[in-house]
Amino acid sequence: MSFAPPPPERVAALACGEKMYFTGKPCKRGHVAPRRVDSYSCSECLRERTEAWAKKNPNRAKEIDHAWKRKNAGRLAQRHAAYAEKNRDALRAYNKAWASRNSERVRNANRKRRARLNGGVLSANIEMVLRELQRGRCAVCCRRLGGNTHLDHIMPLALGGTNTDTNAQLLCRSCNQRKHAKHPVQFMQEQGYLL
Ligand SMILES: [Zn+2]
Ligand SMILES: [Zn+2]
Repeated sequence: MSFAPPPPERVAALACGEKMYFTGKPCKRGHVAPRRVDSYSCSECLRERTEAWAKKNPNRAKEIDHAWKRKNAGRLAQRHAAYAEKNRDALRAYNKAWASRNSERVRNANRKRRARLNGGVLSANIEMVLRELQRGRCAVCCRRLGGNTHLDHIMPLALGGTNTDTNAQLLCRSCNQRKHAKHPVQFMQEQGYLL
């Protein structure tokens, strides 16, 4: 039996007190990745093995993850806070840019969350039914609804309205934009109705 001498990179890392060393040579499974000084193990192999284990033991993995986070909560929170403080303006700009790039997504997520909170399901043909009931006109301004109709919740979901047929109406685009998430009585009064 013969032993290969330890690679010089490991010797150097050991001398410097580092935990990893890197030779640039692939492991048995072809990863070109840093290796651990203590065990010579390829870090990529270790990562894969850990991941496979976690997939087989999801509950235990979650427990370990939670325990680690609990143990390091103070340190993590400190690091997050320091990072957020240091990059406050950049983070704010980033969040704003993300939300505006994904406005549709943000709106949909909000809608879904509210629908979940308030319950209720609209009939699949609700638009057709309402068009008939409203004689093809906007429920607020009575102008003819062209192709540009908006299904509106009379009592906004944000104000506790339900996602049900009896809380639905069709509005023209401009009425819908003005109404947005206003209380229906407040909105109609603003339009000059004595509700
Ligand atoms: Zn490997
Ligand atoms: Zn209208």
